[in-house]
Amino acid sequence: MARIVMKFGGTSMAGTERIRRVANIVRKQAAGGNEVAVVVSAMAGETDRLVNFCREANALYDPAEYDVVVASGEQVTSGLLALTLQSLGCKARSWLGWQLPVRTVEAHAKARVDSIDGEALAKSMAEGEIAVIPGFQGVSDEGRITTMGRGGSDTSAVAVAAAVKADRCDIYTDVDGVYTTDPRIVAKARKLKAVTYEEMLELASVGAKVLQTRSVGLAMKEGVRVQVLSSFVGDDAVPADELPGTMIVSEEEMDELVEKGEVERQHVTGIAHDKNEAKIILTRVPDKPGAVAHIFEPLAAASINVDMIIQNVGRDKGETDVTFTVPQADLARAQALLEDKREDIGFNRIITDSQIAKISVVGVGMKSHAGVAATMFKALADRGINIQAITTSEIKVSVMIDEDETELAVRVLHTAYGLDAADEAA
Ligand code: ADP
Ligand code: ASP
Ligand code: MG
Repeated sequence: MARIVMKFGGTSMAGTERIRRVANIVRKQAAGGNEVAVVVSAMAGETDRLVNFCREANALYDPAEYDVVVASGEQVTSGLLALTLQSLGCKARSWLGWQLPVRTVEAHAKARVDSIDGEALAKSMAEGEIAVIPGFQGVSDEGRITTMGRGGSDTSAVAVAAAVKADRCDIYTDVDGVYTTDPRIVAKARKLKAVTYEEMLELASVGAKVLQTRSVGLAMKEGVRVQVLSSFVGDDAVPADELPGTMIVSEEEMDELVEKGEVERQHVTGIAHDKNEAKIILTRVPDKPGAVAHIFEPLAAASINVDMIIQNVGRDKGETDVTFTVPQADLARAQALLEDKREDIGFNRIITDSQIAKISVVGVGMKSHAGVAATMFKALADRGINIQAITTSEIKVSVMIDEDETELAVRVLHTAYGLDAADEAA
């Protein structure tokens, strides 16, 4: 007998017919004598719809009221899944964020899980009742509803798994695992049997949306075993307990898998892209100590994350251009803040561009292998793709390119690093 947390994403929950399929998967998992808790997303497209309502109601919406609106999508699906499970003869009940409770801290709309009281939940699970929990939502210190940022149900699931000390957290989605890159962009993407927490964290943070970044960080910190697998399977599918999906593992487990010959170690594990950043160029900034601090201090104070930064070689007259990226959603705010500080910073013009993309290659193999970046630059150059900025970390190289070239760049790099699945027809 095991204790399993199962999470189902928006596409898996899109409509009563799909929810019935989910209920069947849950029933099977529970039928083996397992204790089961299920975390659900809103129906696909529902959260976007609710966000738009907020924008229409008030362009400068209050994040606390936004949370009241957008958290409702998960309330609907949690109730519907509990009802469907009951119709199949299972004992099931829903537990809303405030009922567990899922305590969160920090800002509305991007709340972070602080603690979950797992006691009542574990007791109900042990009594054979299936717990159905709406993902994405929690409760603040003031007792108000909060939400955890887009894709937050993954984090809810991992947090619940940690709270009840689950044996495994299965994240069911519309693909059957984590691939070398988004399988919707590259048909030859390969499914990975396992990926390390560190690599998954990096892949998620640079745009592989299959898991929310925070969920991976939390799983790593709490040592939660996570599997990514598909809910779109037939009755004869390999059971989740036999691990048909992708396991997120520690480096030690990965070494063992490599030693056993179950996984092949590559220099590059995966490639991700992100079209949600925007570029800002400040021209003719004084080339002297303190100038760059003047630019980034107001942005940091406004919690605007700056990602890539390049300071161009100083021109004559002790001036230079500074280029950097911010999330597209923060571009207008960043621009207004910088205009405000024009005198202090002393720049000439502010130029912005949202038509950019960041392409990143990730792999722990890079730690011990040189030449990964060179391969990237050559492969892109051979296809005439211009690199506008570069950043690196120990296990990642990212470049900024024109947004129109995103798909081409991802495909070219996937081939260049030898990640393409063998051509079945060949
Ligand atoms: P859910 O609604 O189940 O949370 P998401 O849409 O958030 O699902 O995440 C699943 C999607 O992530 C897939 O449909 C796929 O297009 C995308 N994706 C991006 N990168 C990867 C990757 N490396 N491996 C698998 N899926 C990926
Ligand atoms: N429904 C939320 C969203 O679309 C949370 C989630 O699905 O993970 O972002
Ligand atoms: Mg998701």
